[in-house]
Amino acid sequence: MVSQFEQPIRRENAMSVNDGDFGFATRSIHAGQEPDETGAVMPAIYLSTTFAQSGPGSHKGFEYARSQNPTRKRLEENLASLEGGKYGFAFASGCAATTAVAACLSQGDHVVSVDDVYGGTFRIFDKVFRKFGIATDFVDLQNPLALKDHLRPNTKLVWLETPTNPLLHILDVRTLSDIARHMHVPVLVDNTFATPCLQQPIKLGATLALHSTTKYLGGHSDVVGGAIVTSDPEWAERIRFVQNALGGVPGPVDSFMVLRGIKTLSVRMERHAQNAKAIADFLTKSPRVSEVIYPGLRSHPQHATCESQMLSPGGMVSFRIAGTLADSVKFLKSLRLITCAESLGGVETLIGHPSTMTHASIPKEIREERGITDNLLRISVGLEDVQDLKVDLENAFLAIS
Ligand SMILES: *Cc1c(COP(=O)(O)O)cnc(C)c1O
Repeated sequence: MVSQFEQPIRRENAMSVNDGDFGFATRSIHAGQEPDETGAVMPAIYLSTTFAQSGPGSHKGFEYARSQNPTRKRLEENLASLEGGKYGFAFASGCAATTAVAACLSQGDHVVSVDDVYGGTFRIFDKVFRKFGIATDFVDLQNPLALKDHLRPNTKLVWLETPTNPLLHILDVRTLSDIARHMHVPVLVDNTFATPCLQQPIKLGATLALHSTTKYLGGHSDVVGGAIVTSDPEWAERIRFVQNALGGVPGPVDSFMVLRGIKTLSVRMERHAQNAKAIADFLTKSPRVSEVIYPGLRSHPQHATCESQMLSPGGMVSFRIAGTLADSVKFLKSLRLITCAESLGGVETLIGHPSTMTHASIPKEIREERGITDNLLRISVGLEDVQDLKVDLENAFLAIS
């Protein structure tokens, strides 16, 4: 009998749309997801933990579900295609992806990370891997030339995140990658806020792109996941090894959910950015706001870098209330449509208070010095009618005036 599962898992005459000949939206919907031999238009969810072998060691590329899974493989092909990379790896969370990268380093290695980095990333390098002899410096890289002062002979990785959280600084990925390449140091960009729809770090010179797919890629606040993409075969081998060895892999249902979310990524990102710009303009005019931070505003210090490396400034807006901690809390409690919650990137608008929520673990003096003050708020602008969002914000401003 002929095996049903001759690789690849796709209909014989199906076109492969993984390569750059196709546009981004087309690849979002089709890459890695050609109909299989049943004709199913949506990828199957393979729950099986193990795969039959015709003899010991003789299989079709799938042995055991921690090592490989057909649904996950489709997601990995899709992610690689979207980032313009050769190899994609899916993880159980963004933090599991970060852990996998850190686990590729060795005792005595040094990492330079941007200072305004995701809190969980800081925790992984500072609280877990430091114990194992991997030292990380967290430095301000708004001026890319500052990187030169921090690279050491044992620096093995530069960790970037742009736009940063919650201050939405834009790092110059091209210049930073050039400087690092000169010293033979690979650059990783946490591309969660931008998504490959708006920014493709590998094309800008980075070696690795990393994601929390929990955010915009999943896009509906209903699945936790992570990803790494690279075109470097040596890094791909290392990541493949730790993905299997450490086992932080997503299940097949979660892999399916992320694939499903990605199908609408380009239309969602377009509307997220459109609504975010409208909210940023609205906040700029409010007398209750002392500062609006949005890379799409001319007042943003890295507005030009944003224009040169991003398709649009994205859906995140931060701002400072002209007032105290008590005013910020009262403002948040007065919102009725916009939800106060951690996380971002879903279809619904969320607002967070970094100093008491996501960044509470950073000591107050360091927080304030970095600009994470008690009156700073961060909005993940969703896809609602923007007029309804403005009315909700306006009513909450009235409550504190
Ligand atoms: C959420 C987030 C992470 C961590 O991802 P999880 O899926 O929550 O583990 C990493 N980086 C950024 C920028 C994030 O927003």
